Amino acid sequence: MNEIILGKTGLKVKRIGFGGIPIQRLPMKESDTVLERAIESGINFFDTARVYTDSEEKMGHILSKYRDKIIIATNTYNRVAKGAEQDVDISLKNLKTDYIDLYQLHNISTDADMEKVLGSGGALEGLIRQKEKGKIKHIGVSSHKPWYLEKMLDYFETIQFPFNIIECKANEELIPKAKDKNVGMIAMKPVAGGSIKNVQYNLRYILQSGLHIAIPGMDHPDQVDENFSVLENLKPLSEDEIKKLDAEKELLGDNFCRRCEYCMPCPAGLNISFLHLIRGYYFNYGLKAWSMERLEMLEKGYGDCTACGECITKCPYELDTPNIFRETWVKIQADQKLK
Ligand code: SF4
Ligand code: SF4
Repeated sequence: MNEIILGKTGLKVKRIGFGGIPIQRLPMKESDTVLERAIESGINFFDTARVYTDSEEKMGHILSKYRDKIIIATNTYNRVAKGAEQDVDISLKNLKTDYIDLYQLHNISTDADMEKVLGSGGALEGLIRQKEKGKIKHIGVSSHKPWYLEKMLDYFETIQFPFNIIECKANEELIPKAKDKNVGMIAMKPVAGGSIKNVQYNLRYILQSGLHIAIPGMDHPDQVDENFSVLENLKPLSEDEIKKLDAEKELLGDNFCRRCEYCMPCPAGLNISFLHLIRGYYFNYGLKAWSMERLEMLEKGYGDCTACGECITKCPYELDTPNIFRETWVKIQADQKLK
């Protein structure tokens, strides 16, 4: 039960893997310690991405010593063949290896992106060429929108998507379809950016829902121990445990952006779902420098919300975005001034 074959890749993975976002904020020495603890615990699947600043390099610093024991997955945001091929070469260098087990196209969440990566000269073509050269072994895709992954199941060996007790829309269509096609399923953001407190029950929920592996981000050895120990007790959730998860879901439900983008476009030009994402990274992951860098690149930020309320009426979860953004902006400004 603790190990599983990741769909048609044939890779044998421990069902808790390592998500590479949070090590970005750690100094190299601390990142080494967390990664070493993960290896000692028995975690054998490590996921990172080209856009996670120095996460690939930090993984390469430790994982290269254990190359034959572990599985490395990374992602590219590049949408065209040449760019994706170049990214594979950069990842190989960063990760200090001569092959990557799983290379994924990162967050394909619009029609335009999907058409571009799958079409002639698209990123998938570039990854196939690198696979033929043996530089990557398997090709996957990630998205925050399950309905896009449903359309791409025939092209990829694995799919990666946010899944947890709050964000579980994939139960309806995606998971049964992926199972039928033996596509590997990887749960990203399994603890919803740190919002979910019943971590162990939630991880068990994910794995009993049929996903092969969950990859929580970790930035402390104790977190590694907590997450990985789920595999010692991988029994079905009891009624009482389900009740606790339901209670948490109810508590968090109204305040959690699922990044479905039903609210777009915003008349004031705000990228609403991305701003919610940045807010989560700033406050839940503590990636303040990363978040500020992204905020500064945006033409419109939290302070530009006119509180017209249009997004509230379009959001299926009735998320009070204008108030959330107003509070977020006040908190970020205060926090930045304290530095
Ligand atoms: S309330 Fe703010 S974020 Fe929402 S649609 Fe209006 S301007 Fe955009
Ligand atoms: S605010 Fe609501 S509608 Fe907009 S992306 Fe988030 S969950 Fe979807």
